[in-house]
Amino acid sequence: MIDTVYFEEEVLQHPTATRVRKALPKANWVPINRFQELFNIRNQNFRIQKKNPALILAKKFENFVLPVPSGFGMNSTKNFYFSHMYNCLYDCDYCFLQGLYSSANYVLFVNYEDFFEHISQTIEKNKNDSQMFFSGYDCDSLAFDKISGFSDQLLQFFEKYQNVEVELRTKSIVTNSLRKRPAIKNCIIAFSLSPTKIAKKLDNKAPSIKRRIKAMKQLADCGWLIGLRFDPLIYTNDWKVQYSELICEIMTQINVSSIHSVSYGLLRFPKRMYKKISNLHNTTGLFAFPLDNNNGVTSYGKEIESEMYHFIQQELQHYLPTNKIFHCTG
Ligand code: SF4
Repeated sequence: MIDTVYFEEEVLQHPTATRVRKALPKANWVPINRFQELFNIRNQNFRIQKKNPALILAKKFENFVLPVPSGFGMNSTKNFYFSHMYNCLYDCDYCFLQGLYSSANYVLFVNYEDFFEHISQTIEKNKNDSQMFFSGYDCDSLAFDKISGFSDQLLQFFEKYQNVEVELRTKSIVTNSLRKRPAIKNCIIAFSLSPTKIAKKLDNKAPSIKRRIKAMKQLADCGWLIGLRFDPLIYTNDWKVQYSELICEIMTQINVSSIHSVSYGLLRFPKRMYKKISNLHNTTGLFAFPLDNNNGVTSYGKEIESEMYHFIQQELQHYLPTNKIFHCTG
């Protein structure tokens, strides 16, 4: 699965690196100085590299915890994200990471302990506010977990901070490690979802929607709180039927009391990022659709957005109280 592991020499003895070494015994291990030397090289072709990405093990030194972009988040007053990894095993056509990075190689920051130290400082600094932390902003929170072992340590950490919430956002169905342990009430396992037909076309390499719903149900049955994330909403000829069926299917399978929150957001990109991504995908249907440019943001435009926004909100309200439904604009 991963042929080459580049590692910063100083991280080789770190327990996370030892774990990765055991998980990838056949890979070719190559020492490097700093990860940026490889990751930030200009003119790399994301699509070509995505066919066989290498893994880079690195140490992070700064920016462990950052405020989320405006419009992202739910009902907490302070929202933060952290990224123990850059890039993702999956390959969704609309993924913003391909516009953000020039490399498709995976970077795993091994020093989880420093993330936890900075998160605890953030919690202490904002102790008078309600706080939510998001994992999986620059990667998928669980897809790489068998190798990284990150979620287990993350949950051990957040178990001690019941007054703040943490979200693990994922399309992965690798949930064994979660099901083996007691559910933590301040942790939300949030699944990104699209209608089956759309996901089949766009969510390359990711588990099918049927399997994601099954994984959600198993977690909900074990007591975990579930988040539903319909982001980005994708416009097609029959989008109303497709989204309506998807929402109905989920709500008939998952007990509503297990649903922590639902959020939805429309397809949107900063203009320059959209240009970069669409150049990488010039043959696919998603990028053939004429989009609108408004104030540096490329999207479906006000009319379609407003129609989708109202329809999804109404569909969700058939099943859930409005205080569990959030429109994400960030
Ligand atoms: S699962 Fe998320 S992070 Fe991974 S490729 Fe898809 S959109 Fe990107």
